[in-house]
Amino acid sequence: MKTRAAVATAPGTDLEIRELELDEPRADELQVKIVASGICHTDAIIRDQWYPVPLPVVLGHEGAGIVEKVGADVVGYEVGDQVVIGPAFCGSCEQCLAGHPMYCVNFYDRNFGVQRPEGSKAFSDASGPIGSHFFGQSSFAEHTNVVAHGVVKVGNDVPLDLLGPLGCGIMTGSGAVLNVLQPKPGSSVAVFGTGAVGMAGMLAAKASGATTIIMVDIVPERLEFAKTLGATHTVNSKEVDPVAAIKEITGGGVNYALDTTGVPPVFAQMINSLATRGHGALVGAAKLGTEAPFDIGTLLLSGIKVSMVIEGDAVPKEFIPRLISLHQQGLFPFDKLTKKYAFEDINQAFADSADGSTLKPIVVF
Ligand code: NAD
Ligand code: ZN
Repeated sequence: MKTRAAVATAPGTDLEIRELELDEPRADELQVKIVASGICHTDAIIRDQWYPVPLPVVLGHEGAGIVEKVGADVVGYEVGDQVVIGPAFCGSCEQCLAGHPMYCVNFYDRNFGVQRPEGSKAFSDASGPIGSHFFGQSSFAEHTNVVAHGVVKVGNDVPLDLLGPLGCGIMTGSGAVLNVLQPKPGSSVAVFGTGAVGMAGMLAAKASGATTIIMVDIVPERLEFAKTLGATHTVNSKEVDPVAAIKEITGGGVNYALDTTGVPPVFAQMINSLATRGHGALVGAAKLGTEAPFDIGTLLLSGIKVSMVIEGDAVPKEFIPRLISLHQQGLFPFDKLTKKYAFEDINQAFADSADGSTLKPIVVF
């Protein structure tokens, strides 16, 4: 069938909206009519080739839509189901079997290989095959073929055009807090970076009952906005030393911290702001080969723990329904982070995310 999609063709250039040919879903796939797709910072860094993902490719990995075709071997889904699409995983390696599919040993190939495991690509045009299956989905397309086991049914009484970002950015920040850091009620949490991932982490910290929530960034408007959503303190790390500020606010160090920037000095600040036996997590992406310096002599005495977290270490079929439930109860207002754009304005949405004026753009088809 013919479908319209946004194609990434070269680093730093706009996506091109083209009419492509979409093949038939394979036995283990669903064909989904995408209703809306979030845009994540990771789409931009792949467009710009921080990771060597082959171009041209249809990006997009926060898709929500309606099932239109069901592959022959797929059970549990029907035409008309409303779905949010999560990352792909193999389902049979030791990490998948242990309940940690976001650490699937085949995660990189399945999500960044931009083709099916056997080598075919779902999209093509006169120029040849176009990369598909980015994060198992390539959701910047009106229709796409997705790996069924990453697909989460969400019922028919939900605002589907809002939910795509639950499949990556929102799941990443909130999962790092709810699944990995697990702050105790009454504890303190610091979040470095107030983008969509950091704000989702903040909302999750609030929902967990953390009572001191410190947001750190270099953009004053974002810090002001964080206050309206539940930050108890904000620190502009362009103006003051965030480690000293956090130690002052918490009386010695913060119990839990999240780095959503992936900037080496910020990662070090996060570690140095932790209390004794505190727990920090990194979710911000850095270029392959990026290193950060630490004083391991001093850190040894601190008993701190640091986790590297992919996709909130979530099991999307279990976690996304919980986020929807929290949202319905008013305990996780992630909708306040979003702004909708027409699909035709996708490059404007990327630009607004890059300059910080929009936290979580969603393109609507
Ligand atoms: P974003 O660009 O909207 O937010 C990043 C924030 O960090 C911005 O507000 C920026 O002002 C702030 N920042 C930058 N440099 C800083 C500094 N030196 N000190 C303090 N703050 C600084 O991005 P996002 O959508 O929130 O995503 C955050 C990161 O998470 C990205 O790197 C993205 O690629 C990554 N990510 C990781 C996963 C994962 O599975 N680990 C999943 C999704 C996204
Ligand atoms: Zn993402």
